[in-house]
Amino acid sequence: MFKKLFFTILFFIAANISIYPQTNSITKEILDAALANFDSLVSIRRDLHQYPELAGNEINTSKKIRDYLTKLGLEVKPEIGGHGIVAILKGNKPGQTIAWRADIDAFKDDSPDNVSFASKISGVRHICGHDIHTTIGLGIAKVLSSLKDEISGTIVFIFQPAEETFSGAYKMIDDGIFNEIKPEAIFGLHVTPLPTGTISVKENEMYPASKEISITLNGKNNLDSAADECITILQSFNIVKDEKKFFDISTLGDPQLGVISPNSIYANYVVVTNARKEESENGIVVKARVLASTEENHTTVINQLEEKLNSAQWKDCVKAISVVQKHENVFNDPKLTAAAVNIIKNGFGERVLIPLYGMNPFNNDDFAVFQKQIPGVYFFIGASDFAKGMIAMPHTPNFVADENCIEKGVSYFSFLLQQYSSTK
Ligand SMILES: [Zn+2]
Repeated sequence: MFKKLFFTILFFIAANISIYPQTNSITKEILDAALANFDSLVSIRRDLHQYPELAGNEINTSKKIRDYLTKLGLEVKPEIGGHGIVAILKGNKPGQTIAWRADIDAFKDDSPDNVSFASKISGVRHICGHDIHTTIGLGIAKVLSSLKDEISGTIVFIFQPAEETFSGAYKMIDDGIFNEIKPEAIFGLHVTPLPTGTISVKENEMYPASKEISITLNGKNNLDSAADECITILQSFNIVKDEKKFFDISTLGDPQLGVISPNSIYANYVVVTNARKEESENGIVVKARVLASTEENHTTVINQLEEKLNSAQWKDCVKAISVVQKHENVFNDPKLTAAAVNIIKNGFGERVLIPLYGMNPFNNDDFAVFQKQIPGVYFFIGASDFAKGMIAMPHTPNFVADENCIEKGVSYFSFLLQQYSSTK
């Protein structure tokens, strides 16, 4: 769910970075299979792109996915949590059970779709690249289905609906997706404006947790001034390096300050927004939204808030403090992330991976909901070809994904799943 612009144009990274795969046989088999299936996957992607469906209404998209996976001979379970699909691929050797998740829904958008296979559904468009995600998921299923002798364990493919409304993952879990088979690890991705051929990932938070703080005040005549002081206290918790640049999203791609810089201004922050007071039957409630780069930063805010409220002259007016995190945030299990990065480096070389140091304060993805159940890793995959003017900046009018990222994604992540399922 990219509600705001993601990275700005990362022109400073050379596009079309060369890949130097190790020439072991399984890597070669996977690369060959990804290449052999590329044209048919592009056709699938273009069909999905032409007939996008909104969250909760992915009826035909779901049917196409189901038909494809059924033809591969997988055990397919349709209509899970709405129009979600689960498909199970059993390898010919024993090993771990792991999952791959792809989101499948499109978004309301009226802007002109500047590709020859533009959306034919008025006002609906794959502007977040979920058609690419779905296609990569199908491609991985296809490649790994042809390599069952090389697979130890079980791969569970999750095609999740309704990501844009942050509801599909909850619904699939409520519908018992993990009742019969619970994977030991889950992986997934999102397209980004990085160059095609690259991926990027970091341990821990990939998106910041967003929490709503509410302070209920009552018991004194002049509550208004106490409420104003509460707002001032909340706003004092902002920790943002270079405020002007932080809120200028073009800085997200800045080589010195952006998310892939070791000196990223998006690495350690607390942002307090929408601080306000509201009348309620219990008195006045002061509310604010807090985005923090780490859980420790959130804890510090709460501790300091309690301290300051306790030392206020009107402390007896404070009747309640509540902190609510409405949505989980994407959080990559550190150990699993390190293992996954290692596998990809071994297969395809160091240059594939662009280190990520910061995170966009304004985004999230309900992949996070699965990660609450199972350790998981969420990757960014580059889908831009700057020389051709293709910039995969989700939820922007000019969003265009370089389809070559399908072949790269299928290769990298088929290899990751094949290798990781065999570890332990
Ligand atoms: Zn998205």
